[in-house]
Amino acid sequence: MSSASPTPAGPTPDVVVVGGGIVGLAVAWRARARGLSVTLCERGGLPSYVAASHVAAGMLAPVAEADAQERAVLTLGLDSAVRWPAFAQELQEASGIDVGYRTCGTLVVARDRDEAEHVDREIRLREALGVPVARLLPSAARRLEPALAPAIRSAFHAPADHAVDPRAVCEALVVACERAGVVLRTGASVASVAPGGITLADGERVPAGRVVLAAGAWSARVEGLPGLCVRPVKGQLLRLKARAGEAPLLDHVVRWDGGYLVPRADGCVVLGATMEDRGYDTTVTALGVYELLRDAGELVPGVLELDLEAAMAGLRPATPDNAPLLGAWQDVVLACGHHRNGVLLTPVTADRIGTLLANEDPGIDPAFAPSRFAKVMA
Ligand SMILES: Cc1cc2nc3c(=O)[nH]c(=O)nc-3n(C[C@H](O)[C@H](O)[C@H](O)COP(=O)(O)OP(=O)(O)OC[C@H]3O[C@@H](n4cnc5c(N)ncnc54)[C@H](O)[C@@H]3O)c2cc1C
Repeated sequence: MSSASPTPAGPTPDVVVVGGGIVGLAVAWRARARGLSVTLCERGGLPSYVAASHVAAGMLAPVAEADAQERAVLTLGLDSAVRWPAFAQELQEASGIDVGYRTCGTLVVARDRDEAEHVDREIRLREALGVPVARLLPSAARRLEPALAPAIRSAFHAPADHAVDPRAVCEALVVACERAGVVLRTGASVASVAPGGITLADGERVPAGRVVLAAGAWSARVEGLPGLCVRPVKGQLLRLKARAGEAPLLDHVVRWDGGYLVPRADGCVVLGATMEDRGYDTTVTALGVYELLRDAGELVPGVLELDLEAAMAGLRPATPDNAPLLGAWQDVVLACGHHRNGVLLTPVTADRIGTLLANEDPGIDPAFAPSRFAKVMA
């Protein structure tokens, strides 16, 4: 053993997971449930406060997010949405932590003629994709959600698009992993990955039967897989809170072209989110905050009465086709690139990657195979 690459004593784990966001934690938990010995390396603490999972709004919204160019993602999202109730229940039982799963449904609203035409096109698209939604007159939308402004022009209702609290999910996953016997290593920044193990930034080598790369928007910064096409997409977001004793502002997730409001059980409302290509920058800007509040205030005026609890920014892990990378590439297992839908896609990702790690057929759609980018990933 060279001093530059010390290897710790002890048995080699079956699996090392790189990254302790929602995806890495859930994969580790599921792999452990399959009887595998698992070590997870997170460069920060656990839960991780820099992870996108710490910032995410928590919408579980395959229907509202549906895009004609992303049919495979829609199918995967619907599959994962169906898994969420049991996943949340199992996680709550394993950890004793309420993960804030809410069957609230989603309202998509328009405030002017252009947006109403956009909503019409979105309704027709969903009919064509086989996931019809209910068109609502403005009066019907306001009966469902009285906080909506009288001025809204049209709306549709996606009754099965729900929400969860991603911070609570990550806290619960940390506890569930600990209780299940996953070895959680914090302050363990992974410099490089290879088929037989990983090397930490301090030179320590951690051998492993299989390596799973789940480092979110930072996945391409880990050495060993040249050309890995995951890039950060910045999102700014606000947490707003009703005063003590005041009724919650919203019952449903409310979305519009360019933003959304997500109610939490504790009376908080999450207002998001910008979409910005600014590399690894996570500063909160006056313009970002202004645009979020301006649009939300037009559609749900009561938002402007809430207390501002926090303003933050996170990095979505995006791929060139907005679909995740799921499966082996150069004998390293990838579970990254979930972009806008990583929270939604967590249960299906963890189940499928857990199956793959147990050497069974995970049944992953080739649309998510890393090999689709073989030309750029040298
Ligand atoms: C503003 C915003 C709103 C969002 N809203 C939603 C939503 O409503 N619904 C939804 O489904 N999705 C949403 N998303 C997307 C979702 O947050 C992400 O897709 C998901 O959190 C990705 O999870 P992850 O575990 O892959 O990455 P992350 O949560 O980013 O975790 C990656 C982890 O890897 C660690 N790491 C990085 N490099 C290393 C290294 N070298 N060594 C060790 N550890 C490392 C990081 O410290 C981090 O903890 C949102 C994202 C943003 C930014």
